[in-house]
Amino acid sequence: MTVLRIGQVKVSSVEELRIPNTIAYFTSEEALIESNRHWLAPHFLDAQNCFDLVFQSFVMEVDGKVVLIDPCTGNGKPHPVPQFDRLDVPWLERLDAAGYRREDVDIVMCTHLHHDHCGWNTMLRDGRWVPTFPNARYLMSRTEIERWDPRRPGHHPVSYNVDVFARSVLPVIEAGLVHVHDGSLRVGDCLEVLPAPGHTLGHCWLQVTAGEASALFSGDTFHHPLQLVDPTMQFGGGDDLRLAIASRRQLIELAALRDALIVAAHLPWPHGIKVRLERGQPVFTTGTRA
Ligand SMILES: [Zn+2]
Repeated sequence: MTVLRIGQVKVSSVEELRIPNTIAYFTSEEALIESNRHWLAPHFLDAQNCFDLVFQSFVMEVDGKVVLIDPCTGNGKPHPVPQFDRLDVPWLERLDAAGYRREDVDIVMCTHLHHDHCGWNTMLRDGRWVPTFPNARYLMSRTEIERWDPRRPGHHPVSYNVDVFARSVLPVIEAGLVHVHDGSLRVGDCLEVLPAPGHTLGHCWLQVTAGEASALFSGDTFHHPLQLVDPTMQFGGGDDLRLAIASRRQLIELAALRDALIVAAHLPWPHGIKVRLERGQPVFTTGTRA
């Protein structure tokens, strides 16, 4: 378990699994890689130009509420990719080790509804998928729910997300635990959901504020920090490439303006990226503290 700080707020990463990755999936531009190595190495870029894609949730207590962001893939769920297929990972025990039982969670934030961001919404009990966090309000975007509901006309399925809606989304909706929002939502003084479409149509960020400090939990707006240096750099598929690029640009602007720590869903330790503008150009550093 690793820890970030947003002012006085302690944020724990609860890891499910990690998959080694290479920068070659993002770019082959040697000059771009080398000119950024000084701030990416060693955790976001090792000597072999590799890094780990980490599948993790972030959990914290803010304003007296326990907030859990992006509950991973979950146990026992069939998946076409072997690394995610029918997992048996002690993720709930790791949540426990971070200091939280599943009953403690007050707010679950799904940045989007890909399998690895909503899986632990539910768990298997007596052959049924039931809410893992029975006392939580689950925040989900209406656009995102509609995008993944296979019952809607014109539904566009993707292989790695088949049946995720039925297993990980519908049971919490039917249990009456979902707070459906339109992309923007203020939750108390310290939490704000912001729309950031592209990777998926209803993808959102969560801004967490603690005193003077703030962090932007940016989900899958980018998967490697080089995509902030060159926002046109793509990784894998997505719903709307043009919107994804626009969201990356907006993330940089907003983080610089608010001096916010950017925390992406899949980055390994030290998890966080800071950006400041020098003569209008973004300058990036890594860190664990907002
Ligand atoms: Zn993801």
